[in-house]
Amino acid sequence: MGAKKLEKKLFGTNGVRAVVGKDLTPQLVMKIGLALGTMRKGRIAVGMDSRTSGPALIAAVKAGLMAVGCDVVDCGMLPTPALQYIVKGNFDGGAMITASHNPPEYNGIKIIEPDGTEMGDEETIELESLIFLDSVSLAKWDEVGSESIEKERVHEYVAGVLKHFPQGIGTGIKVVIDPGCGAAVSTTPEILSAMGTQIFTINSHADGHFPGRLPEPSEAGLKPLSTLVIATGASFGVAHDGDADRAVFIDEKGAFIEENKSFALIVRYLCNAQKGVIVTPVSTSNLIERVAKELGSTVVYTPVGSIYVARTMINLENEGQIVVMGGEGNGGLIYREHQLCRDGGMSAAVMVALLAKEKKPLSELISRLPPSFMLKEKITTNNGTAILEKLRDIYKNYPIDDTDGIRITVRNGWALIRLSGTEPLVRVMVEFETKEEASTLYNEIIGNIKALI
Ligand code: MG
Repeated sequence: MGAKKLEKKLFGTNGVRAVVGKDLTPQLVMKIGLALGTMRKGRIAVGMDSRTSGPALIAAVKAGLMAVGCDVVDCGMLPTPALQYIVKGNFDGGAMITASHNPPEYNGIKIIEPDGTEMGDEETIELESLIFLDSVSLAKWDEVGSESIEKERVHEYVAGVLKHFPQGIGTGIKVVIDPGCGAAVSTTPEILSAMGTQIFTINSHADGHFPGRLPEPSEAGLKPLSTLVIATGASFGVAHDGDADRAVFIDEKGAFIEENKSFALIVRYLCNAQKGVIVTPVSTSNLIERVAKELGSTVVYTPVGSIYVARTMINLENEGQIVVMGGEGNGGLIYREHQLCRDGGMSAAVMVALLAKEKKPLSELISRLPPSFMLKEKITTNNGTAILEKLRDIYKNYPIDDTDGIRITVRNGWALIRLSGTEPLVRVMVEFETKEEASTLYNEIIGNIKALI
């Protein structure tokens, strides 16, 4: 049912990402601009996150785009979902300079299609062939594209999120926001304030050195946010990754909420209002399926990567199905009514609306979810493909799904073993209702992999 992954050379699951000045150079970014402008002639919107290398690299992509005749609108620093919202229906494409949650020394680029979704595999392979051929036609002197700087366009996105909620719905709710010195510094505080919530912020100035915490919103990095949630008596804390397409939550007691659990809570909230399909990768907790089922909804699984989730949502709708939402188990949630991409600011806003409706503490709502225990591990090896084949043989008596890697279903639980798209790694995930059951299968699989390396 879900889209299938195709092999790409330069682009990973979420665009190009590499260490600046090493594998990611202005020369490469300009070539991507030349290729994108050749493929998507017309008006292209560009933006960047808060990384130190952003201004140099956005200049490179703009140079490439204009050199092949595209007119460029520079939206400045903003979240990836904000640029996607701006592009949707208004531009011939977009390019976002970002390395999402990667460490500060990284940067990268995501390509956005005219409908606001990330570029799919087939189109990306076409783009890559233009980059590698290095034979684009440059525009003549009087056909070179123009540039305009339109940093105020980010407000279109803020208004686009707000229109889904009744005015003042957040009145009486206190929230602490941690944009991590990333792209959401200008958006999530504005969104939640406009909803009527009382906000407090931490790491709320843009700084590509990321002095407060790394762009990945990990449990360890969010300790100061937890402390501030408790100190202010807030209803919850919300943190974003560097480009704010993801949101992770802290409950009112300062506890980190595993992202699959906040996803399940939001699924329960949205499926209460409408039955339909939830789309998510095979790596997501089966909490989603259990919660959806309780409310008469179903789940469709895809390969790991938000583009596969978004494309599958589109395909299902074209088949006449009602799609409620999509999302990944890492806090990257896609709200169908808003736009077909992950959106951290929208997730924060939905959490406000959810608490306004439920009128219960977040920790209590989380504790009422079905039991789930997940173990995750990554093992470095260049021998991943062979290992996967041997595991397939070892577990041949169980049902195996090969949407992405191998997903083994056993009684009361499942395990996923898949290859990383970007590094020489095998990723292992195991989920059961109890820690004991999860540990047993987890230890067995890890033992098998280590014996095969
Ligand atoms: Mg991101």
